[in-house]
Amino acid sequence: MSGDDKTIPDIARAILDEGLICDHCLGRQFAKLSTGLTNRERGAAIRLVLAMTADMAGTGDDDEPMHPDLRIPERCWVCNGIFEELDLWASRAIDAIGGREYETFLVGTRLSGLLSENEELLWEAVGTDHAEPLKSEINREVGKLIASAAGKEVNFTEPDIVCLLEIAEGTVQLQIRSEYICGRYQKLVRGIPQTRWHCRECRGAGCERCGFTGKMYQESVDELISARVVEAMDAADTTFHGAGREDIDALMLGDGRPFVLEVNEPGKRKTDLERLEQEINVYCEGKVAVSGLRFVDHQTVRNLKGARHDKVYLATISCARVDRDTLVLGLDEITGMIRQRTPTRVTHRRADLVRKRTVRSALLESFSGDSAVVRIECEAGLYVKELISGDSGRTVPSLAGVVGADVVVTELDVVEVMDARDVIGE
Ligand SMILES: [Zn+2]
Ligand SMILES: [Zn+2]
Repeated sequence: MSGDDKTIPDIARAILDEGLICDHCLGRQFAKLSTGLTNRERGAAIRLVLAMTADMAGTGDDDEPMHPDLRIPERCWVCNGIFEELDLWASRAIDAIGGREYETFLVGTRLSGLLSENEELLWEAVGTDHAEPLKSEINREVGKLIASAAGKEVNFTEPDIVCLLEIAEGTVQLQIRSEYICGRYQKLVRGIPQTRWHCRECRGAGCERCGFTGKMYQESVDELISARVVEAMDAADTTFHGAGREDIDALMLGDGRPFVLEVNEPGKRKTDLERLEQEINVYCEGKVAVSGLRFVDHQTVRNLKGARHDKVYLATISCARVDRDTLVLGLDEITGMIRQRTPTRVTHRRADLVRKRTVRSALLESFSGDSAVVRIECEAGLYVKELISGDSGRTVPSLAGVVGADVVVTELDVVEVMDARDVIGE
């Protein structure tokens, strides 16, 4: 049914004909018509107008009254009396938040099946031309109560905490906005991955192979940094976002690699990052060091993930059958465009295809007969170990290929991640 050619009293009578209804639910059906009133005030006003016009029409008439039953019900059939319980919902939300730090919040409501159905039944009968959904009113009214009781602000775009009222369960679920800390890390030992790795056998559940830890490696850069952050910010956990990653057996030196640590469900939102940085560096001493910690917004994660950084590597190579001059000439030959088919060691997790990548420079740093250290500056995504070894002809040219002998990387360190400053806003 449409309310197009019906007056407000006509629609109001139709609503009341469906059953006894509270002022909130009556007023909400006309929410789009006037501002500056609550639905309850609007509902009471409409009820008053109907009462006055009914009295004028009905005096001295013996027939059935033409006006509907205007009594306010004990329990409204639409909302089932939920507007009597707004204080209870507000205090449930405040209890659920507990001692967590927050400045802004937002209320959401998951209606019970019964309430959704009641609203649908009413709308089917009288139309929705001027109506506001039941949820919106609950969200707004509970929001006002929390704001005044807790002294916090409602924020629609990026609230610190969303309180989801589960009407059927009588509980409040929280969604807590993450905080983001960016910085740079150095990895000072070999053999630890950047992020947590689940055990391949048990996928994290714990088994004999992993000594019931659920992990492939007992430590990671991520976990070493995370421990003190979780403690300082009373967080549930952290998620590590790196600007690329080095191999497990490679060091990350120089100024370090940019990263963003997402702090999940923080109980504290402000912390002295200078002090936290010191604490992390004491905790990880000799393994990992962090610097330049700052709070950033979640957009920084996207920038970090999307950016591709050129790198500078120091590679120690074994090159027993190659003399110094041949090596220098060879390094010169592998400078420029490289065609690199996905290395055999990663084909199980990466598509097998040929990439073109540029080696910007390849220079001999030191030479000691059996081994040498070379400094390679190259484009993001180039596999340096294969640039040296040739990977059975999958990388062309390669150092092994151009010098005509076996040459392999024995140690690889990242010494610089280029152009990362704009990404994390340094
Ligand atoms: Zn109601
Ligand atoms: Zn396992």
